[in-house]
Amino acid sequence: MIKAVIFDYGGTLAKSKAPENIVSEKSVERLLMEGIEVEAIDFHNAFFETAEWRMSLHDEGKEIDSYKFYNHLVGIFGHEISKDVSDELEMYLVENGEPDWLVNVEALLIKLSGDYKIALLSNAWLEAPRQILRDKGWGRWFDVMVCSFDIGIPKPDARIFQHTLNLLEVDASEAVMVGDSIKTDIKGAISVGMEAIWVDKEGTSEWKGHTVKTIDELPELLKNI
Ligand SMILES: [Mg+2]
Repeated sequence: MIKAVIFDYGGTLAKSKAPENIVSEKSVERLLMEGIEVEAIDFHNAFFETAEWRMSLHDEGKEIDSYKFYNHLVGIFGHEISKDVSDELEMYLVENGEPDWLVNVEALLIKLSGDYKIALLSNAWLEAPRQILRDKGWGRWFDVMVCSFDIGIPKPDARIFQHTLNLLEVDASEAVMVGDSIKTDIKGAISVGMEAIWVDKEGTSEWKGHTVKTIDELPELLKNI
C-alpha cells in the first residue's frame, strides 16, 4: 500500500525561468564589492561552464553546494569568495526564481496530503526549490524536503532515495517517486524497490511502467497502485 508520494521539482512541479541577465548583473555588482571585476556576459558563460562541470560530477555520484558552485565559477577568473558572499549570490537566483508551475500545484498537494505523506526530492546545488515552495506557503504540505546538496549525493544514487525514505519513516515498497527523468527519478527509485511514475509530457512512451502526462492525473492513478 502506498503511504508516501515523493516529487521531483524541475520538469515535474515547475519549469525554471530565472531571468539570467538580471541575476548576472546583480552578481557581478556584488563581486565588484569583493574587488573581483567580471563582465556580466563572462559571469553568465562561467555560470554555464560551472553547471556543466557539476553535471560531470553527477556521473561520479557527487553533488556540490552553492559555496563550491560559486567558488568553481569565480575560480575560472582566478578568485575565491567566502560562504557569506556565495550565500548572497545564491539569493539572487532564489529571489528571481519564480518558475512556471506545471499544474495547480497547491490544489494537488492539498488533495494528496489527505491520503499520503508528501516529499520533495530534488537534484539541487542551492536552496531554491525548497525556498520557492516555502515562499509560496506550500511548505506546510510537505512532510520532508530533500535537496541533493544536503548529503552531497544526487539522484539516481540509491543512498539519496534511502535518505528520503528514512526521513519519511516509510519502507521503499510504501513509496512512489514521481519525476520527469527516467535516468535519475525512475531508474533510481526502482533500484531501491520503490514504485515510480514517469511524467511524460511529450507522450513519447519510452517507459513501459506507470506514466502520466501531467501530475494532475496522480490522485486517480495512485488509487490503482
Ligand atoms: Mg526533473
